[in-house]
Amino acid sequence: MLSLYLHIPFCKSKCPYCDFFSVVDTHPVFAEYPTLLIQQLALVDGRQDWQGPVSSIYFGGGTPSLLDPAEIDRLLKAIDGQLGIAADAEISMEANPGTLTLSRLEGYRAAGINRLSLGLQTQNLRQLRQLGRLHSRSENLQAVDWARQAGFRNLSLDLIFALPGQTLPGLQEEIREYCELSPEHLSCYGLTAEVGTPLEASVREGAIVLPDGDFYAEAFLCLHEGLEGAGYEHYEIANYARPGYACRHNLGYWQRRPCLGLGAGAHSFQAAKWGERWVVPADLEAFRAALFQGKDPSELLEQFDRRAAMGETLYLGLRTRHGVDERSFRKTFGVGVAEVFPEEVKQLASYLECRDGAWRFQPESWLLFDRLIQVFL
Ligand code: SF4
Repeated sequence: MLSLYLHIPFCKSKCPYCDFFSVVDTHPVFAEYPTLLIQQLALVDGRQDWQGPVSSIYFGGGTPSLLDPAEIDRLLKAIDGQLGIAADAEISMEANPGTLTLSRLEGYRAAGINRLSLGLQTQNLRQLRQLGRLHSRSENLQAVDWARQAGFRNLSLDLIFALPGQTLPGLQEEIREYCELSPEHLSCYGLTAEVGTPLEASVREGAIVLPDGDFYAEAFLCLHEGLEGAGYEHYEIANYARPGYACRHNLGYWQRRPCLGLGAGAHSFQAAKWGERWVVPADLEAFRAALFQGKDPSELLEQFDRRAAMGETLYLGLRTRHGVDERSFRKTFGVGVAEVFPEEVKQLASYLECRDGAWRFQPESWLLFDRLIQVFL
């Protein structure tokens, strides 16, 4: 089964901490962008490696909710016409409070979106402003309420932690408020000063002080305990879900399933051979120019050999609660994890375990994930 990712690289303004590819929506390509996506989709027609039907679709960004419901409807009809959309497909869209109205949300729902990911980020107004977010606490609450009224039964909320000046009691209050909104899913990211962002410059100049590593670790564990205590499964480093609501699209990434990426800045993964990753360069003018010439704008980013594919299988799978299934690893590669990585497994003995047929890190070890996983790469 195929997944489809559509990157919508437009926002109302640029948040100072963000290093995703997006530009403000006054950009000249904004109005024709949905048409360009449909043109890119047409280029994959009939290719063996992109056979439908599509089992999950994800509109990410940027701010996909800047597209009118009629444009989302047009895109979904084009996808259905070209590749087919499975009857039970998960169709997600990221949306920002402040860009929504009840009727827009009803329009997205009617177009076929059945999972909404709302970029709340925090309920603390001072911290919302520090993050450069344009929406307010009351717009956050209003967006959740409208989403439910519009018929969304699968709602995900974003939460950013390790914010400047945040305290553990403050985070506990935040967790309580989020739980009161009863989302089916939560994505929780620690704030980091990504290279080249205005936030990084402010941190370098001392204008903003981010919490230290100890607070980050305490906050991560506070979220883990608070949300698991409220009935959410911590199913991936940054993601929590009520039973049955893990994001199927993202699970596909972590299981190295094929995914076609459309739009400037989008990535694709082809599972054939040991796997290939492709990227559409993050350049809107080049994207438009390539499509006007009838050319596929994607470029090959990485071609895996068997050894690299094994390393990536561990890198992605160990991010998740369910880990890496030993039987399916052996089926794919013809060897078991401990046979191909005996020294590495020994080295990680205090963190990594194989239980019930799967290799896993405990959630506490996820705090060290970036360091621990290096041994396999
Ligand atoms: S709205 Fe999201 S994608 Fe857009 S600039 Fe802010 S964080 Fe980045």
